[in-house]
Amino acid sequence: MPRAIDVHVHPSTREWVDGAMGEFRPACEDYFHTRLPEHSVDEMAAVFRAADVLGVLLAWDAETHTGNPPVSNDFVAGCVAAHPDAFLGFASVDPHKSDAVVELERAVRFLGLRGLKMHPGAQGFSPDDRALAPIWETAQSLGIPVLIHTGTTGLGAGMPGGGGVALGLSNPMLIDRMALDFPDLQIVMAHPAWPWQDEQLAVLAHKPNTWIDLSGWSPKRFAPELVREIRGRLQDRVLFGTDYPFLTHEQWLGAWATLDMPDAVTEKVLLGNATRLLGL
Ligand SMILES: [Zn+2]
Repeated sequence: MPRAIDVHVHPSTREWVDGAMGEFRPACEDYFHTRLPEHSVDEMAAVFRAADVLGVLLAWDAETHTGNPPVSNDFVAGCVAAHPDAFLGFASVDPHKSDAVVELERAVRFLGLRGLKMHPGAQGFSPDDRALAPIWETAQSLGIPVLIHTGTTGLGAGMPGGGGVALGLSNPMLIDRMALDFPDLQIVMAHPAWPWQDEQLAVLAHKPNTWIDLSGWSPKRFAPELVREIRGRLQDRVLFGTDYPFLTHEQWLGAWATLDMPDAVTEKVLLGNATRLLGL
């Protein structure tokens, strides 16, 4: 076993950094005060191997809403096949494409991907929209978790009209409805969901099939109430994630250490909870 499983990893390859991000890239880089690296798959795998972190690589298909090409499920499956010691993969499907359900089944059954990643703002859907029910039902019956973006986003930040990304679609209260309608579906809310941190914590406390990944924010910037809940009643449904390449493992883990979490909580967050969620 690696020392940690990072459940939120974007491929720092041309396919995502340049292709799927498209015109969002420069504004996003400004928002995160960083410049995105471009690696080959092999270089990226070496980064994860050196850090002793297993990365959950995320596919990305927001083609209908953004016009940008997807990071395909086949691409992610190829990365995992080439570097099974460094990566696991999550699928993505564009909910506006008529083959979304069929593609999800193919990605899991034939490509071996282990979850579904969705981004309501970038993909242009509301998590509580009943039109999405067939996708959630399929994920539930396949027994895979759904990782779904919550809170604000760097995508479209500073662009005219926010690049067409509506923030309200990432309100965690919309996940509450999903968790109610699909009680056997494990739903991971990606990121501390600022400006709805309290709402997110309320959903987590109320719906036992919801989880949070801590990616996209330095632990130094976590709200005090989030830190308290991680230490307390939510410690079994909290997952380490970086949102790589926006944050590196060293940055995130270094800041985490300053929180002085009990070792047992750190073990759950870095490894134990993800191992359980993914059935490893
Ligand atoms: Zn992300």
